[in-house]
Amino acid sequence: MSERTLVMVKPDAVRGGHVGDVVGRFEAAGLTIRALKMIHLDRQEAEEFYRVHRGKPFFSGLTQFMSSGPIVAIVLEAPGAITQVRRLMGATDPAKAEPGTIRKDFASSIEQNAVHGSDSPESAAYEIPYFFGALEQHAYERAAR
Ligand code: UDP
Ligand code: MG
Repeated sequence: MSERTLVMVKPDAVRGGHVGDVVGRFEAAGLTIRALKMIHLDRQEAEEFYRVHRGKPFFSGLTQFMSSGPIVAIVLEAPGAITQVRRLMGATDPAKAEPGTIRKDFASSIEQNAVHGSDSPESAAYEIPYFFGALEQHAYERAAR
């Protein structure tokens, strides 16, 4: 069954000029882009997105970073999209990420780690409508590669 996930290209990767690289990896892996936009979260919006991490030691730094510049929010769809995207992203800490993953190649620290991907269907169900309404999400068939 097809599944949707919410991805963000984080401010460090936008500033680094890696939007195309990151989006290209997902497209090359066969995921379908259902929605995509650039947005600059304010501090409160970043805190609300990451509300499950409130109270953790990295919450303040994370939300400061995530509101430090624009991000690119993307909805990707494929069977098993959540797991597939997490695998393409690599470990949270780029020092521990597998070679060839997005974080290994583009992230600079455990905080400034280039990309976000929903970690479960429940997270995706909160995160997708946080950025996109129904009319901003587009279903279409990708051409065979
Ligand atoms: N983060 C951090 N320090 C940590 C753990 C996480 O700054 O020790 C940041 C990092 O940007 C990470 C985000 O908080 O991507 C959310 O953490 P989570 O554990 O959900 O990692 P993810 O699901 O993004 O791999
Ligand atoms: Mg997470």
